[in-house]
Amino acid sequence: MMTNCVKCLLWLCCLLVLGPAPVMAQRVVSKTVARTGGSWALYRQGGATYIKMDDLCRFYGFRAMKAVSRKGYKTYGAKNRYISFRAGSKDFYVNNYRYMLSFPVIASGNYLLISTTDVKKLVDPVLRPRYSRDTGPVNTVVIDAGHGGHDAGAVSAYSCEKVVNLQLAQRLATRLKKRGLRVVMTRRGDYFLTLRQRVEIANKYPKCIFVSIHHNSARTKGLGIETFTLAPQGTTSPFARKRLRTVLAGNHQDSENIALATAIHSRAIKKTGAFDRGIKRAGFSVLCSIRRPAILFEGGFVSHPKEGRKIATAAYQDLLADALCEGIISYCGVVGGRSKKLRKTRSL
Ligand SMILES: [Zn+2]
Repeated sequence: MMTNCVKCLLWLCCLLVLGPAPVMAQRVVSKTVARTGGSWALYRQGGATYIKMDDLCRFYGFRAMKAVSRKGYKTYGAKNRYISFRAGSKDFYVNNYRYMLSFPVIASGNYLLISTTDVKKLVDPVLRPRYSRDTGPVNTVVIDAGHGGHDAGAVSAYSCEKVVNLQLAQRLATRLKKRGLRVVMTRRGDYFLTLRQRVEIANKYPKCIFVSIHHNSARTKGLGIETFTLAPQGTTSPFARKRLRTVLAGNHQDSENIALATAIHSRAIKKTGAFDRGIKRAGFSVLCSIRRPAILFEGGFVSHPKEGRKIATAAYQDLLADALCEGIISYCGVVGGRSKKLRKTRSL
């Protein structure tokens, strides 16, 4: 006889694979679609479908925990995993690392609801990356140093983006080769490549992942590290203003994209202690038409008086390169299938 837990798991798998059952009402309504030791109700609001946060937490065996350093947030978890969220916000934390949901958490009566898109495309691949194995083993890392040639990217008195992008890319390449991975650089010197050319290089390697390296700038004192993955179909973000209606090539790897971003971003924040700007969604050209797991990593602000100076130093670049390398090796082991050549490393 199946346990309730197994039935719940099967139901969530159906939800993830097939998508939610149709719910006709446009305002928030509840529809019980299964009774498997606790029903999964679907709610409809503003064109998105939601489930109760309580049901999600029950599925993962999470219980309410004392809030982790954030006012107004609810925290649920078990053992060494926990999530934090609040009504009306897209801010979402897993183990204290910041993510940007595609739809805000909403309050309905006594319940908080989370969109099924965010469950499928963010929460589950991050909490259970081992279930994201669709794209097969990885043997190549395509490192894309952003900008180059006449396109300097962000420039300040402290550092120049095209230069620090390439320096970090080269340090990362050296480390990955030592760990047994093949490395392809989209550019090896100070010359210009179009965004399309960068994607064409990556799409030549069927067992690759794509890591685009950039740095930020701001007129105000912006600082910190952020990582972008492609916005899932049917969603929008401040960096992909139009709602993405069609399935882009990059959407076939949605789960792997967020798992790769998590592996790299969390280690970069932990190692450097930089401000965590979060893992965000975007419709950037290099992420749209790529056919392999891909992220765009922003390693800090060249415009910030302290961070900008630090970014240009070999010591800081080494620290970041170590973090990126560890994240990639971990991703390859957990999600992308372990190559025999890869040395043992921690799981995600
Ligand atoms: Zn850039």
